[in-house]
Amino acid sequence: MHDKAESYKNESLSFSDAKALIDYLASGWSSHMPHTPNQEVYISFFGGEPLLNMRLISKIVAYIESLHSLNRRFVYSMTTNGWLLDKYQEYLVKKDFHLLISLDGDKYSNSYRISAGGTQTYDKLIKNILYLRNNYPAYFEKRVLFNAVLHNRNSLSKVTQYFVDTFGKTPQVSPLASSNVNPKYLDDFNRMKQTAETFEKLDDKAKEALIKQQFFNIPIIHDIVRDYFLNSGNVFRSYNELVFGQDSRHFQTGTCTPFSKKVYLCTNGDILACERIPSKFSIGRIVGGKVYLNNEEIASRYNTWLGLLSKFCRSCARSTTCNQCVFQIDDFPNNTACSGYLTHEKYEELRKQYFSILGKHPELYKLIFENVILT
Ligand code: SF4
Repeated sequence: MHDKAESYKNESLSFSDAKALIDYLASGWSSHMPHTPNQEVYISFFGGEPLLNMRLISKIVAYIESLHSLNRRFVYSMTTNGWLLDKYQEYLVKKDFHLLISLDGDKYSNSYRISAGGTQTYDKLIKNILYLRNNYPAYFEKRVLFNAVLHNRNSLSKVTQYFVDTFGKTPQVSPLASSNVNPKYLDDFNRMKQTAETFEKLDDKAKEALIKQQFFNIPIIHDIVRDYFLNSGNVFRSYNELVFGQDSRHFQTGTCTPFSKKVYLCTNGDILACERIPSKFSIGRIVGGKVYLNNEEIASRYNTWLGLLSKFCRSCARSTTCNQCVFQIDDFPNNTACSGYLTHEKYEELRKQYFSILGKHPELYKLIFENVILT
């Protein structure tokens, strides 16, 4: 249903490209010691389906283990459909992989996920997950998480309850990705896209359970927290902002500064700031084992991209709390109409709604103060 970027089409990453990026980063790591010893670095594998290429993954892990004196602690993680979990569980447990298994809930909720042969994946997946849980209960408890995509065959409360009842875990939930939908499948997408379950429409018992289980994952609570913190006057994104105040000419949107959180290497050697960004926004490349990254060029491209939105952001009431990544705007940069744009009147209505929810659920204040750190 979604257009695949060129970089993801039927290719697998070469070991020499992966090694080139690791060596490039390792040279930076060995020259800049972290403030905290053994700072964690996550090495994450996404698909396609990473378990289909375990030969490459084990080679990369072995290479990282052969590097010394980096003063870093490497943590491995993987997002998997779980289809081959029975085959590779021993290795994953041995290397202490953090696993994120994609499962949308019970059999009906998961029925959009089908195997290459056209059969539903639910039965085999559940068998594999239970096999892992029975063989390695402590690992399962500590390292296994679930990600469910919301669509018209499930709902946030239904999915949450399923995972709590079946595995004693609260799942991560994500909406159906709305960017890069192939126009041919737009009707299917619109049919499948779940109109978000409105928190306010749930009965009190369901609300209470959802707050307890999902809290920050409930979209409206997430928005309330951001609004509450970022408009409090007590949150500063940098020391400059603390001393000199917020620069009103500065519009970062919700787009991450490249390399501030992660770096993503595609199978064709493209380097991106994040796995969710389309490959046309690559910021570098690996060719023939050599890494090409030009910081000035990256800064200039980002300034151009963010500049395209600045005229909207300037009058948008969300500018101080924005979490819109520009690369997730459909058909950006040809299209610069941001669906998150909010007039000041609309924003006031929204804030009234936030205050009404906080008024009805004062326990949220305590939860927010005790559990939320904005980074
Ligand atoms: S228009 Fe508003 S919501 Fe969209 S990127 Fe700019 S500040 Fe964010």
